[in-house]
Amino acid sequence: MKKDSIVVFRRDLRIADNAALSAAMAAGPTLAVYVLDDAADGRPLGGAGRWWLHYAIVRLQRQLADLGVPLILRKGDLNTAVIDVAIATGACRVHWNRRYTPWGARADKALGIELQRIGILSDSFEGAYLREPGTLLAKSGACYRVFAHFYKASLAMAEPSAPLAAPGRQTMPDISVESETLEDWRLLPRNPDWASGLRRAWAPEASSGESRLFEFLNKDVASYAQDRDRPDIDATSALSPYLAHGELSPRQLWHAARRIQRASPGEGPGIDSFLRQLVWRDFSANLLYHFPDLANRPFQEKFERFPWADDPASLEAWRRGRTGYPWIDAGMRQLWVTGWMHNRVRMGVGSFLTKHLLLPWQCGEAWFWDTLVDADPAQNIANWQWVAGCGADAVPYFRIFNPITQGEKFDPTGRYLRRWQPAASSYVPGSAGVPPIIGHRQGRERALAAFRSLSDR
Ligand SMILES: Cc1cc2nc3c(=O)[nH]c(=O)nc-3n(C[C@H](O)[C@H](O)[C@H](O)COP(=O)(O)OP(=O)(O)OC[C@H]3O[C@@H](n4cnc5c(N)ncnc54)[C@H](O)[C@@H]3O)c2cc1C
Repeated sequence: MKKDSIVVFRRDLRIADNAALSAAMAAGPTLAVYVLDDAADGRPLGGAGRWWLHYAIVRLQRQLADLGVPLILRKGDLNTAVIDVAIATGACRVHWNRRYTPWGARADKALGIELQRIGILSDSFEGAYLREPGTLLAKSGACYRVFAHFYKASLAMAEPSAPLAAPGRQTMPDISVESETLEDWRLLPRNPDWASGLRRAWAPEASSGESRLFEFLNKDVASYAQDRDRPDIDATSALSPYLAHGELSPRQLWHAARRIQRASPGEGPGIDSFLRQLVWRDFSANLLYHFPDLANRPFQEKFERFPWADDPASLEAWRRGRTGYPWIDAGMRQLWVTGWMHNRVRMGVGSFLTKHLLLPWQCGEAWFWDTLVDADPAQNIANWQWVAGCGADAVPYFRIFNPITQGEKFDPTGRYLRRWQPAASSYVPGSAGVPPIIGHRQGRERALAAFRSLSDR
């Protein structure tokens, strides 16, 4: 009789287009393991990420049950837990989808070695990105540092492979190994329950990534190219949390969008522009893959000497949406209430923090990590470095977004302002009754002087 296979889930909480799950089920009776490991992302998940994870696991558990696959939950060190379950069940092979963060790749390598030592086989698979990080290189063999070149090279290749269908049902294996329960983990906040805004924004018990994708491709994608910078319109897909937790794969999105494009060629520009964003996602993952120190050090070395400020009061005002700039405070409020912020506003609040306030990008990255439902190590780190001007292909440091005109330009109807800063009459600083923590011109000039000091030394 065939022995059991184990599939280990991480940020790939789906059953379709999951190469590890398909391979495990093809090999024999399969059981699934998810380990809540504080080191899995190099640091514990943030509050909003934990909230999302709870519902993502509920959805996964349901889908796996339909396939006849039991899901064992464990908390602690991932490798210890997997080995423990493998030994307890007498499994002969462990399958997983590869991770590309420095800490994830290291842990997976160690798991493979440890399993081999005790005579258990392991197999790893790809599928978290359109193309596996580390495989798309310039002719010189170096990695791309400029997005436009990476994008062009990506388009010049064959289409990303088609997503795999969900595997067929198996007879539920009879296993006696213990599982913790999701309730044991207390991923949802209590006392206080700060998640009512998240529940309203995402309806986690009623909606799924598939339904959101379907709605986006059949409705909003047509105007995506022209409206994607408008936070006053729900013009973007809001699929980022599903991608971040792997409930949807980028290849599923890519091919679903291509199917619509073939059927309605008029929607070409919207779809091309949407697919381009998925390539940005690949680009960020490649940056962290090739520059494993990206979490701690600026991509552009000269920024090691940047005179960042130490100003806890301003940082707190930024986090709480009390800078006195309605554009910034609206974004921070949207983030706090819904666990998500529009990309254009993320760029604005990031620029304000690192330029007007001269605060280190890591402070903003850490706050986003705690408050975003789509918090993802590679995307968050690479985008923060980009917005701070010290990252790869970054917005130049001296391009300082104007927090007044940006609001006026990207929220022409004022709908975003009314929703997230109802007390403000306009994007003029102070118009919500909170005095600005720094003058726009003063902040801008101070930032430019700090930047100039890099070349003066
Ligand atoms: C400072 C800062 C921090 C960010 N942190 C994160 C993060 O932790 N997690 C995260 O998923 N995104 C992050 N982003 C990128 C981007 O803001 C979000 O992916 C996007 O707003 C999600 O909304 P959407 O799904 O509607 O995007 P859409 O416009 O519908 O785009 C589709 C998908 O493409 C990808 N994408 C879009 N924009 C980017 C981008 N700039 N870089 C990389 N991938 C992108 C996302 O996976 C997104 O879901 C950050 C951006 C900034 C400026």
